[in-house]
Amino acid sequence: MKKRKRRIKKKIKIIFIISLVSIIVVAISMFLIILNNKVNLVLKKDLNVQINSEVSLYSFVEKIKSGEIISNDKEIDTSTLGKQDLSIKVKNGSTTKEYKFTINVVDTIKPEIDAPSEITTVVNKEVDLLKDVSVSDNSKEDIKVEVKGEYDFHKQGEYNLDYYAKDSSGNEATKQFKLIVVSDPDNMTFTTSKGFKGEVIDGVTYIDGVLIVNKTYSLPSDYGNGLTSATQNAFNEMNADAKSLNLNLWIASGYRSYWTQNTLYNNYVALDGKEEADTYSARPGHSEHQTGLAFDLNSVEESFANTDEGKWVKDNCYRYGLIIRYPKGKENITGYMYESWHLRYVGVDLATKLYNNGDWLTLEEYFGIDSKYESE
Ligand SMILES: [Zn+2]
Repeated sequence: MKKRKRRIKKKIKIIFIISLVSIIVVAISMFLIILNNKVNLVLKKDLNVQINSEVSLYSFVEKIKSGEIISNDKEIDTSTLGKQDLSIKVKNGSTTKEYKFTINVVDTIKPEIDAPSEITTVVNKEVDLLKDVSVSDNSKEDIKVEVKGEYDFHKQGEYNLDYYAKDSSGNEATKQFKLIVVSDPDNMTFTTSKGFKGEVIDGVTYIDGVLIVNKTYSLPSDYGNGLTSATQNAFNEMNADAKSLNLNLWIASGYRSYWTQNTLYNNYVALDGKEEADTYSARPGHSEHQTGLAFDLNSVEESFANTDEGKWVKDNCYRYGLIIRYPKGKENITGYMYESWHLRYVGVDLATKLYNNGDWLTLEEYFGIDSKYESE
């Protein structure tokens, strides 16, 4: 009896163990089947893409934990801003899952301005500040560039300005540049200390309309081509009246070109040295003889002042519009010694004012200008 009971117990034990093992085997099998058919795809966290950027469907996948993508990869159209629904199918064994997601085409990139950092021009010469400026942007829009800041082409100075561009998404770009407006020594205006308007036109200076040449103001090397008819006429009239008084006048030296003056001056410098030569001979470009408005009478020497001709000319030349250009006692103002023989045509009105009832005034005093070389 006892033996039988024991046998039964043993049987139960065996059945139990077999059942347990079966359950475990089935459980493991089921687990393996489930695991085998599981799909798990992880998408990228940031689903924003820039407009017009090149992206493909697969680029939104961070990783595939299980299963495989069965959707074909494709280029995504990113040419328009906004949301776009996409999906990717993943399969694992008998399981297929579609992952739906929404990407957003955005534009957060600012335009790029390509422009010079410095523009230089001369006063009154307007330049197109946008001429060499171009702008590019990922939006492929036609973006206009503006200039921000204040400037004045009519005023000398340095202006710190900005180029500014903005795309339709509101991305702004600025690029600094400097506009430098320099004075144009060949074309400018100024006011003399006596309030007269000075004007430089193509390198020739006029004050109150009167052409001025002295140690401060020069002429371009190609200026002049002989005595002006007004100057020649003034001499002729004066000479006719002088003749009737038995005075004998002639032009010893009239128009001199820049290059003639250059030779003359250099010869004087070689003879007397520069400092001495500068007291009686003009440097090239600074000679009144190049204007065609000046001439030397007769002997071209100090003794002329004491001749009957010299005395008469000194007190009468103004009536013909001619002046004693370098009067006595005004050496420090004109920069030249007294030249009784050197006459300059300025017209009767101004000549009469400068005659000043016999006490000759200089053009420098009358207009309020200097006569000094820039470099010594
Ligand atoms: Zn002269």
